[in-house]
Amino acid sequence: MTTFSSSSSAPTESATQAAAEGTQALPSIFDLSRSDLVSVVEEMGEKRFRADQVWRWLYFDAAESFDQMSTLSKTFRNTLSETFSMAPLTEAMSLTSKDGSTSKWLFRLQDGELIETVLMRYETDGHRRNRKTACISTQAGCALGCTFCATGQQGFRRNLSVGEIVAQVVAVQRVAIAEDEADIGTGKRTKGELQGVTNVVFMGMGEPLVNYKNTVGAIRVLNDGQGLNIGARHITVSTVGLIPEILKLADEDLQINLAISLHAPDNQTRSQTMPINKRYPVEELVRACHTYADKTKRRIFFEYVLLKGQNDSIEQAQKLGRLLNGLHCHVNLIPVNPTSGGVYERPEMSLAKIFQGGLKQYGIPSTVRMEKGIDINAGCGQLRARVIDNISS
Ligand code: SAH
Ligand code: SF4
Repeated sequence: MTTFSSSSSAPTESATQAAAEGTQALPSIFDLSRSDLVSVVEEMGEKRFRADQVWRWLYFDAAESFDQMSTLSKTFRNTLSETFSMAPLTEAMSLTSKDGSTSKWLFRLQDGELIETVLMRYETDGHRRNRKTACISTQAGCALGCTFCATGQQGFRRNLSVGEIVAQVVAVQRVAIAEDEADIGTGKRTKGELQGVTNVVFMGMGEPLVNYKNTVGAIRVLNDGQGLNIGARHITVSTVGLIPEILKLADEDLQINLAISLHAPDNQTRSQTMPINKRYPVEELVRACHTYADKTKRRIFFEYVLLKGQNDSIEQAQKLGRLLNGLHCHVNLIPVNPTSGGVYERPEMSLAKIFQGGLKQYGIPSTVRMEKGIDINAGCGQLRARVIDNISS
Protein backbone atom coordinates (compact mmCIF):
# COMPACT_ATOMS: atom_id res chain seq x y z
CA MET A 1 0.00 0.00 0.00
CA THR A 2 1.29 3.41 -0.90
CA THR A 3 1.81 5.97 1.79
CA PHE A 4 1.28 9.63 1.28
CA SER A 5 3.33 12.65 2.01
CA SER A 6 0.95 15.42 2.84
CA SER A 7 0.86 19.09 2.03
CA SER A 8 -2.07 21.19 3.01
CA SER A 9 -3.17 24.72 2.52
CA ALA A 10 -5.87 26.66 4.27
CA PRO A 11 -8.79 27.76 2.10
CA THR A 12 -8.30 31.46 1.48
CA GLU A 13 -10.62 32.18 -1.42
CA SER A 14 -13.30 34.80 -1.55
CA ALA A 15 -16.21 32.37 -1.29
CA THR A 16 -15.14 31.07 2.10
CA GLN A 17 -14.53 34.62 3.28
CA ALA A 18 -17.89 35.68 1.89
CA ALA A 19 -19.56 32.83 3.76
CA ALA A 20 -17.78 33.85 6.97
CA GLU A 21 -18.78 37.48 6.50
CA GLY A 22 -22.36 36.54 5.61
CA THR A 23 -22.09 38.14 2.16
CA GLN A 24 -23.33 36.42 -1.00
CA ALA A 25 -20.65 34.68 -3.12
CA LEU A 26 -20.75 35.41 -6.85
CA PRO A 27 -22.20 32.70 -9.12
CA SER A 28 -19.64 30.35 -10.61
CA ILE A 29 -18.80 30.82 -14.28
CA PHE A 30 -18.32 27.06 -14.54
CA ASP A 31 -22.08 26.62 -14.09
CA LEU A 32 -22.73 28.17 -17.51
CA SER A 33 -23.24 25.98 -20.55
CA ARG A 34 -21.65 27.20 -23.75
CA SER A 35 -24.89 28.75 -24.96
CA ASP A 36 -25.49 30.38 -21.54
CA LEU A 37 -22.06 31.95 -21.85
CA VAL A 38 -22.85 33.35 -25.30
CA SER A 39 -26.01 35.01 -23.94
CA VAL A 40 -24.19 36.44 -20.93
CA VAL A 41 -21.35 37.82 -23.06
CA GLU A 42 -23.79 39.45 -25.48
CA GLU A 43 -25.72 40.96 -22.57
CA MET A 44 -22.44 42.48 -21.45
CA GLY A 45 -22.28 44.24 -24.83
CA GLU A 46 -19.47 42.09 -26.22
CA LYS A 47 -19.34 40.28 -29.55
CA ARG A 48 -20.31 36.62 -29.72
CA PHE A 49 -16.78 35.41 -30.52
CA ARG A 50 -15.65 36.77 -27.16
CA ALA A 51 -17.66 33.96 -25.58
CA ASP A 52 -15.55 31.45 -27.52
CA GLN A 53 -12.44 33.15 -26.21
CA VAL A 54 -13.65 33.03 -22.61
CA TRP A 55 -14.61 29.38 -23.02
CA ARG A 56 -11.15 28.58 -24.35
CA TRP A 57 -9.47 30.40 -21.50
CA LEU A 58 -11.61 28.53 -18.99
CA TYR A 59 -11.35 25.02 -20.36
CA PHE A 60 -8.53 24.80 -22.89
CA ASP A 61 -5.99 26.99 -21.10
CA ALA A 62 -7.42 26.28 -17.63
CA ALA A 63 -6.73 29.90 -16.66
CA GLU A 64 -6.78 30.60 -12.93
CA SER A 65 -8.24 34.10 -13.07
CA PHE A 66 -10.08 36.47 -15.40
CA ASP A 67 -7.01 38.65 -15.25
CA GLN A 68 -5.02 36.01 -17.13
CA MET A 69 -7.40 36.20 -20.11
CA SER A 70 -5.08 38.48 -22.02
CA THR A 71 -6.99 38.46 -25.32
CA LEU A 72 -9.94 40.22 -23.62
CA SER A 73 -10.08 43.93 -22.88
CA LYS A 74 -9.33 45.02 -19.34
CA THR A 75 -12.87 46.39 -19.02
CA PHE A 76 -14.45 43.12 -20.08
CA ARG A 77 -12.21 41.17 -17.69
CA ASN A 78 -13.30 43.49 -14.89
CA THR A 79 -16.98 43.04 -15.73
CA LEU A 80 -16.54 39.28 -15.73
CA SER A 81 -14.78 39.26 -12.38
CA GLU A 82 -17.43 41.51 -10.84
CA THR A 83 -20.16 39.14 -12.06
CA PHE A 84 -18.70 35.65 -11.69
CA SER A 85 -16.49 33.62 -9.44
CA MET A 86 -13.81 31.38 -10.92
CA ALA A 87 -13.34 29.58 -7.60
CA PRO A 88 -16.24 27.19 -6.90
CA LEU A 89 -13.67 24.95 -5.21
CA THR A 90 -10.85 25.81 -2.84
CA GLU A 91 -8.16 23.36 -1.90
CA ALA A 92 -8.46 22.25 1.71
CA MET A 93 -5.76 19.60 1.46
CA SER A 94 -3.75 17.66 -1.08
CA LEU A 95 -1.85 14.40 -0.89
CA THR A 96 0.58 12.78 -3.32
CA SER A 97 1.62 9.14 -3.19
CA LYS A 98 5.29 8.48 -2.53
CA ASP A 99 5.77 7.06 -6.02
CA GLY A 100 4.26 10.26 -7.44
CA SER A 101 1.70 8.39 -9.53
CA THR A 102 -1.39 9.56 -7.65
CA SER A 103 -2.53 12.83 -6.13
CA LYS A 104 -5.67 13.48 -4.21
CA TRP A 105 -7.35 16.75 -3.33
CA LEU A 106 -9.88 17.57 -0.71
CA PHE A 107 -11.86 20.52 -2.06
CA ARG A 108 -14.13 22.81 -0.10
CA LEU A 109 -17.25 23.99 -1.91
CA GLN A 110 -18.65 27.50 -1.48
CA ASP A 111 -21.04 26.34 1.25
CA GLY A 112 -18.29 24.50 3.11
CA GLU A 113 -19.04 20.94 1.94
CA LEU A 114 -15.98 18.78 1.26
CA ILE A 115 -15.39 16.56 -1.77
CA GLU A 116 -12.47 14.53 -3.11
CA THR A 117 -10.81 14.46 -6.51
CA VAL A 118 -7.94 12.23 -7.65
CA LEU A 119 -5.38 12.38 -10.45
CA MET A 120 -3.78 9.13 -11.59
CA ARG A 121 -0.73 9.25 -13.82
CA TYR A 122 0.10 6.32 -16.08
CA GLU A 123 3.42 6.13 -17.87
CA THR A 124 3.41 4.78 -21.39
CA ASP A 125 3.81 1.00 -21.46
CA GLY A 126 5.02 0.70 -25.02
CA HIS A 127 1.74 0.19 -26.86
CA ARG A 128 -0.34 2.71 -24.89
CA ARG A 129 0.44 6.41 -24.57
CA ASN A 130 0.89 8.30 -21.30
CA ARG A 131 -2.44 8.95 -19.64
CA LYS A 132 -3.67 11.19 -16.88
CA THR A 133 -7.01 10.20 -15.43
CA ALA A 134 -9.11 12.47 -13.21
CA CYS A 135 -11.45 10.70 -10.81
CA ILE A 136 -14.24 13.10 -9.83
CA SER A 137 -17.15 13.42 -7.40
CA THR A 138 -20.77 14.15 -8.33
CA GLN A 139 -22.26 14.52 -4.85
CA ALA A 140 -21.12 15.55 -1.41
CA GLY A 141 -21.74 12.23 0.37
CA CYS A 142 -24.10 9.55 -0.94
CA ALA A 143 -27.51 8.32 0.16
CA LEU A 144 -27.16 4.75 -1.05
CA GLY A 145 -25.35 3.28 1.93
CA CYS A 146 -23.24 0.49 0.42
CA THR A 147 -21.70 -1.17 3.45
CA PHE A 148 -18.11 -1.34 2.15
CA CYS A 149 -18.03 2.30 1.08
CA ALA A 150 -16.76 5.10 3.32
CA THR A 151 -18.79 7.73 1.45
CA GLY A 152 -21.95 5.66 1.76
CA GLN A 153 -21.36 5.33 5.46
CA GLN A 154 -21.08 9.10 5.80
CA GLY A 155 -24.57 9.77 4.41
CA PHE A 156 -25.85 12.26 1.85
CA ARG A 157 -25.16 15.99 1.90
CA ARG A 158 -26.13 17.35 -1.52
CA ASN A 159 -25.79 17.12 -5.30
CA LEU A 160 -22.94 18.99 -6.98
CA SER A 161 -23.74 21.54 -9.68
CA VAL A 162 -22.40 21.16 -13.23
CA GLY A 163 -19.79 23.79 -12.39
CA GLU A 164 -18.66 21.99 -9.25
CA ILE A 165 -18.24 18.78 -11.24
CA VAL A 166 -16.31 20.29 -14.16
CA ALA A 167 -14.23 22.59 -11.94
CA GLN A 168 -12.65 19.46 -10.45
CA VAL A 169 -11.32 18.50 -13.87
CA VAL A 170 -10.19 22.07 -14.54
CA ALA A 171 -8.30 22.13 -11.22
CA VAL A 172 -6.58 18.87 -12.05
CA GLN A 173 -5.97 20.04 -15.62
CA ARG A 174 -3.93 22.99 -14.30
CA VAL A 175 -1.67 20.57 -12.48
CA ALA A 176 -1.47 18.16 -15.43
CA ILE A 177 -0.57 20.93 -17.90
CA ALA A 178 2.10 22.33 -15.57
CA GLU A 179 3.61 18.85 -15.31
CA ASP A 180 3.55 18.38 -19.08
CA GLU A 181 5.27 21.74 -19.53
CA ALA A 182 7.93 20.79 -16.99
CA ASP A 183 8.47 17.51 -18.88
CA ILE A 184 8.84 19.42 -22.14
CA GLY A 185 11.39 21.68 -20.41
CA THR A 186 13.47 18.69 -19.33
CA GLY A 187 13.10 16.94 -22.68
CA LYS A 188 11.02 14.07 -21.21
CA ARG A 189 8.23 15.02 -23.59
CA THR A 190 8.11 16.75 -26.94
CA LYS A 191 6.06 19.90 -27.55
CA GLY A 192 3.35 17.95 -29.37
CA GLU A 193 2.77 15.89 -26.24
CA LEU A 194 1.12 18.61 -24.17
CA GLN A 195 -2.08 16.76 -23.33
CA GLY A 196 -3.16 17.45 -19.75
CA VAL A 197 -5.97 15.26 -18.45
CA THR A 198 -6.71 12.53 -21.00
CA ASN A 199 -9.42 10.54 -19.19
CA VAL A 200 -12.16 11.20 -16.65
CA VAL A 201 -13.88 8.64 -14.43
CA PHE A 202 -16.98 9.45 -12.39
CA MET A 203 -15.88 7.23 -9.53
CA GLY A 204 -15.42 9.71 -6.73
CA MET A 205 -17.91 10.54 -4.04
CA GLY A 206 -21.58 10.09 -4.77
CA GLU A 207 -23.85 8.40 -7.28
CA PRO A 208 -23.67 10.12 -10.69
CA LEU A 209 -27.06 8.88 -11.87
CA VAL A 210 -28.86 10.26 -8.80
CA ASN A 211 -27.45 13.61 -9.95
CA TYR A 212 -28.34 12.71 -13.53
CA LYS A 213 -28.94 16.11 -15.10
CA ASN A 214 -25.75 17.70 -13.79
CA THR A 215 -23.69 14.61 -14.59
CA VAL A 216 -24.82 14.68 -18.23
CA GLY A 217 -24.37 18.47 -18.34
CA ALA A 218 -20.82 18.07 -17.04
CA ILE A 219 -20.03 15.34 -19.59
CA ARG A 220 -21.08 17.70 -22.38
CA VAL A 221 -18.74 20.41 -21.07
CA LEU A 222 -15.81 17.98 -20.67
CA ASN A 223 -16.46 16.70 -24.17
CA ASP A 224 -16.46 20.11 -25.89
CA GLY A 225 -13.81 20.21 -28.61
CA GLN A 226 -12.89 23.87 -27.97
CA GLY A 227 -12.31 23.23 -24.29
CA LEU A 228 -11.06 20.26 -22.31
CA ASN A 229 -11.81 18.07 -25.31
CA ILE A 230 -12.02 14.79 -23.37
CA GLY A 231 -13.36 12.24 -25.85
CA ALA A 232 -16.54 10.46 -24.77
CA ARG A 233 -14.73 7.15 -25.06
CA HIS A 234 -12.28 8.44 -22.48
CA ILE A 235 -15.06 9.20 -20.00
CA THR A 236 -16.44 6.51 -17.67
CA VAL A 237 -19.54 6.84 -15.52
CA SER A 238 -19.80 4.37 -12.67
CA THR A 239 -23.21 3.62 -11.20
CA VAL A 240 -24.64 1.52 -8.43
CA GLY A 241 -27.24 0.41 -11.01
CA LEU A 242 -30.23 2.74 -11.20
CA ILE A 243 -32.28 1.10 -13.95
CA PRO A 244 -34.47 4.02 -15.15
CA GLU A 245 -31.43 6.31 -15.44
CA ILE A 246 -29.35 3.63 -17.22
CA LEU A 247 -32.13 3.35 -19.81
CA LYS A 248 -32.32 7.12 -20.11
CA LEU A 249 -28.55 7.35 -20.54
CA ALA A 250 -28.77 4.83 -23.39
CA ASP A 251 -30.84 7.42 -25.30
CA GLU A 252 -28.46 10.36 -24.74
CA ASP A 253 -26.31 9.51 -27.74
CA LEU A 254 -23.11 9.68 -25.69
CA GLN A 255 -20.32 7.27 -26.53
CA ILE A 256 -19.12 7.15 -22.93
CA ASN A 257 -18.17 4.02 -20.99
CA LEU A 258 -20.70 2.76 -18.49
CA ALA A 259 -19.44 0.86 -15.45
CA ILE A 260 -21.92 -0.97 -13.24
CA SER A 261 -21.04 -1.67 -9.62
CA LEU A 262 -22.33 -5.22 -9.35
CA HIS A 263 -20.30 -6.74 -6.50
CA ALA A 264 -22.40 -9.91 -6.27
CA PRO A 265 -23.95 -12.46 -8.63
CA ASP A 266 -27.29 -12.90 -6.83
CA ASN A 267 -29.87 -10.90 -4.92
CA GLN A 268 -29.25 -12.46 -1.55
CA THR A 269 -25.52 -11.62 -1.55
CA ARG A 270 -25.96 -8.22 -3.21
CA SER A 271 -28.67 -7.06 -0.84
CA GLN A 272 -26.35 -7.74 2.11
CA THR A 273 -23.95 -5.00 1.01
CA MET A 274 -25.97 -2.82 -1.38
CA PRO A 275 -29.39 -1.65 -0.13
CA ILE A 276 -30.29 -0.42 -3.65
CA ASN A 277 -30.54 -4.05 -4.74
CA LYS A 278 -33.90 -4.35 -3.00
CA ARG A 279 -35.26 -1.75 -5.44
CA TYR A 280 -33.40 -2.94 -8.55
CA PRO A 281 -32.65 -6.66 -8.37
CA VAL A 282 -29.72 -8.23 -10.19
CA GLU A 283 -31.67 -9.87 -13.05
CA GLU A 284 -33.50 -6.66 -13.89
CA LEU A 285 -30.25 -4.72 -13.73
CA VAL A 286 -28.53 -7.12 -16.12
CA ARG A 287 -31.55 -6.92 -18.44
CA ALA A 288 -31.18 -3.11 -18.50
CA CYS A 289 -27.48 -3.59 -19.30
CA HIS A 290 -28.43 -5.72 -22.32
CA THR A 291 -30.73 -2.93 -23.51
CA TYR A 292 -27.98 -0.36 -22.96
CA ALA A 293 -25.38 -2.43 -24.83
CA ASP A 294 -27.80 -3.13 -27.71
CA LYS A 295 -28.71 0.53 -28.10
CA THR A 296 -25.26 2.06 -27.72
CA LYS A 297 -23.23 -0.81 -29.19
CA ARG A 298 -20.87 -0.23 -26.30
CA ARG A 299 -19.35 -2.86 -24.07
CA ILE A 300 -20.45 -2.63 -20.42
CA PHE A 301 -17.90 -2.68 -17.61
CA PHE A 302 -18.78 -4.36 -14.36
CA GLU A 303 -17.02 -3.52 -11.16
CA TYR A 304 -16.80 -6.30 -8.65
CA VAL A 305 -15.22 -5.41 -5.33
CA LEU A 306 -13.87 -8.62 -3.81
CA LEU A 307 -14.86 -8.92 -0.15
CA LYS A 308 -13.18 -11.80 1.63
CA GLY A 309 -15.64 -14.55 2.54
CA GLN A 310 -18.61 -12.55 1.25
CA ASN A 311 -18.62 -12.62 -2.55
CA ASP A 312 -15.28 -14.17 -3.56
CA SER A 313 -15.91 -17.92 -3.85
CA ILE A 314 -15.41 -19.90 -7.03
CA GLU A 315 -19.13 -20.81 -7.02
CA GLN A 316 -19.99 -17.10 -6.97
CA ALA A 317 -17.57 -16.52 -9.84
CA GLN A 318 -19.30 -19.20 -11.88
CA LYS A 319 -22.71 -17.79 -11.00
CA LEU A 320 -21.49 -14.38 -12.18
CA GLY A 321 -20.22 -15.99 -15.37
CA ARG A 322 -23.67 -17.47 -16.03
CA LEU A 323 -25.40 -14.18 -15.22
CA LEU A 324 -23.28 -12.18 -17.67
CA ASN A 325 -23.09 -14.84 -20.36
CA GLY A 326 -24.01 -13.38 -23.76
CA LEU A 327 -23.49 -9.74 -22.72
CA HIS A 328 -20.73 -7.70 -24.37
CA CYS A 329 -18.87 -6.84 -21.17
CA HIS A 330 -15.69 -6.78 -19.13
CA VAL A 331 -15.40 -7.39 -15.39
CA ASN A 332 -12.98 -5.46 -13.19
CA LEU A 333 -12.20 -7.36 -10.02
CA ILE A 334 -11.12 -4.98 -7.27
CA PRO A 335 -9.86 -6.31 -3.92
CA VAL A 336 -11.68 -4.12 -1.39
CA ASN A 337 -9.96 -1.12 0.06
CA PRO A 338 -10.80 -1.64 3.74
CA THR A 339 -12.39 1.45 5.31
CA SER A 340 -11.85 2.56 8.85
CA GLY A 341 -14.37 0.85 11.09
CA GLY A 342 -15.28 -1.44 8.17
CA VAL A 343 -15.56 -5.20 8.55
CA TYR A 344 -14.28 -6.28 5.16
CA GLU A 345 -10.92 -7.73 4.26
CA ARG A 346 -9.29 -8.25 0.91
CA PRO A 347 -8.91 -11.77 -0.38
CA GLU A 348 -5.40 -12.90 -1.31
CA MET A 349 -4.30 -12.31 -4.89
CA SER A 350 -4.30 -16.08 -5.51
CA LEU A 351 -8.03 -16.22 -4.67
CA ALA A 352 -8.72 -13.30 -6.98
CA LYS A 353 -7.00 -15.25 -9.76
CA ILE A 354 -9.12 -18.33 -9.03
CA PHE A 355 -12.23 -16.13 -9.20
CA GLN A 356 -11.04 -14.85 -12.54
CA GLY A 357 -10.66 -18.44 -13.73
CA GLY A 358 -14.31 -19.10 -12.80
CA LEU A 359 -15.42 -16.22 -15.02
CA LYS A 360 -13.22 -17.43 -17.84
CA GLN A 361 -15.07 -20.75 -17.86
CA TYR A 362 -18.06 -18.77 -19.11
CA GLY A 363 -16.06 -16.68 -21.56
CA ILE A 364 -16.26 -13.50 -19.47
CA PRO A 365 -13.09 -11.37 -19.75
CA SER A 366 -11.86 -9.80 -16.54
CA THR A 367 -8.93 -7.97 -15.00
CA VAL A 368 -7.79 -7.91 -11.39
CA ARG A 369 -7.27 -4.27 -10.51
CA MET A 370 -4.83 -3.47 -7.80
CA GLU A 371 -5.26 -0.01 -6.41
CA LYS A 372 -2.96 2.71 -7.51
CA GLY A 373 -2.09 5.12 -4.74
CA ILE A 374 -4.39 6.14 -1.89
CA ASP A 375 -3.42 4.94 1.50
CA ILE A 376 -6.62 4.53 3.48
CA ASN A 377 -4.75 5.52 6.61
CA ALA A 378 -4.46 8.98 5.11
CA GLY A 379 -8.10 9.33 6.12
CA CYS A 380 -9.71 9.42 2.72
CA GLY A 381 -13.33 8.61 2.08
CA GLN A 382 -14.08 5.81 -0.31
CA LEU A 383 -12.43 7.68 -3.11
CA ARG A 384 -9.47 5.68 -4.08
CA ALA A 385 -7.47 5.44 -7.20
CA ARG A 386 -7.01 2.20 -9.00
CA VAL A 387 -5.83 0.81 -12.26
CA ILE A 388 -8.64 1.14 -14.74
CA ASP A 389 -6.56 1.31 -17.86
CA ASN A 390 -8.70 -0.95 -19.98
CA ILE A 391 -11.78 1.13 -19.21
CA SER A 392 -10.19 4.43 -19.96
CA SER A 393 -7.61 3.72 -22.64
N1 SAH B 1 -21.68 5.58 -6.75
C1 SAH B 1 -21.03 5.07 -7.89
C2 SAH B 1 -19.69 5.71 -8.19
C3 SAH B 1 -18.81 6.03 -7.03
S1 SAH B 1 -18.13 4.67 -6.21
C4 SAH B 1 -20.91 3.56 -7.79
O1 SAH B 1 -21.18 3.03 -6.72
O2 SAH B 1 -20.58 2.94 -8.80
C5 SAH B 1 -16.94 4.08 -7.40
C6 SAH B 1 -16.60 2.61 -7.24
O3 SAH B 1 -15.87 2.40 -6.01
C7 SAH B 1 -17.82 1.69 -7.15
O4 SAH B 1 -17.64 0.55 -7.95
C8 SAH B 1 -17.84 1.33 -5.69
O5 SAH B 1 -18.56 0.18 -5.45
C9 SAH B 1 -16.37 1.23 -5.39
N2 SAH B 1 -16.02 1.21 -3.97
C10 SAH B 1 -16.68 1.78 -2.94
N3 SAH B 1 -16.06 1.52 -1.77
C11 SAH B 1 -14.98 0.76 -2.06
C12 SAH B 1 -13.96 0.17 -1.28
N4 SAH B 1 -13.92 0.32 0.04
N5 SAH B 1 -13.01 -0.56 -1.91
C13 SAH B 1 -13.03 -0.69 -3.26
N6 SAH B 1 -13.96 -0.15 -4.06
C14 SAH B 1 -14.95 0.57 -3.46
FE1 SF4 C 1 -22.77 5.59 -2.97
FE2 SF4 C 1 -21.25 4.36 -4.84
FE3 SF4 C 1 -20.49 4.46 -2.25
FE4 SF4 C 1 -22.57 2.93 -2.94
S1 SF4 C 1 -20.40 2.67 -3.61
S2 SF4 C 1 -22.47 4.30 -1.18
S3 SF4 C 1 -23.48 4.16 -4.54
S4 SF4 C 1 -20.69 6.17 -3.64
